[in-house]
Amino acid sequence: MSTAIEIRQVSKQFENGVRALDNVSLTVAAGEVVCVVGPSGSGKSTLLRTVNRLETVTSGDVLLDGESIHQAGKRLNALRQQAGMVFQQFNLFPHLSVLDNIMLAPLRVQGREADEVRQQALALLERVGLGHRGASYPAQLSGGQQQRVAIARALAMQPKVMLFDEPTSALDPEMVGGVLDVMQDLARDGMTMIVVTHEMGFARAVADRVVFMEAGRIDHIDQPSGFFEPAAGSRLDAFLSEVL
Ligand code: ADP
Ligand code: MG
Repeated sequence: MSTAIEIRQVSKQFENGVRALDNVSLTVAAGEVVCVVGPSGSGKSTLLRTVNRLETVTSGDVLLDGESIHQAGKRLNALRQQAGMVFQQFNLFPHLSVLDNIMLAPLRVQGREADEVRQQALALLERVGLGHRGASYPAQLSGGQQQRVAIARALAMQPKVMLFDEPTSALDPEMVGGVLDVMQDLARDGMTMIVVTHEMGFARAVADRVVFMEAGRIDHIDQPSGFFEPAAGSRLDAFLSEVL
């Protein structure tokens, strides 16, 4: 299987001295789903943000499809578009309709043709279960619906990989399932994904591998079957017994 994302010995020290990542390496195959769990402050978001260079690295590098994103030069924008990102806060543009939210970047950033972009946006809205809401404005949607639009918006850029940073953490409990269903569907379709999440049921059911981060390092990585049967007394064991 080909490699989609290669995180190579990445360290990140912030200017305030905090060492958020300490020599993290992780290779994600095309079509693979990797879930990342761990306590608050363990470096999960920073790791995800180094993958599309929302965050610089102190040392190390990230390769997308074999190309360095931290040495990218003029290729940076093109490379960045290969990695779609979905955040805890959906950040839709409030003054734009759902359809226009999805079409904006493909039109303005990628310069694609309007008819094609519209057709794709409508298909994506169908796919996230909101085919009838294209003319709505974000404020008219529930949080779960807004997050599904945010996923459609990221997909509209036709990324090769998708990065999710706690996409359901800001949602009311009854909204979580719909968003996870969309993500599971995407995984089934073969999308390469890194998902930072507290949803252990999702990690168990959908992930090919699960990463446990602790203090800026990958403490443990395994397939779900092994991951959720940690060695007694390990840090992972302590973490899981708190969250499960
Ligand atoms: P997580 O997502 O696992 O909660 P983060 O990656 O957000 O962890 O943070 C890892 C560490 O880096 C934490 O100690 C956090 O306070 C620190 N950190 C994150 N972003 C910054 C920043 N921009 N400046 C300084 N420290 C930061
Ligand atoms: Mg975080």
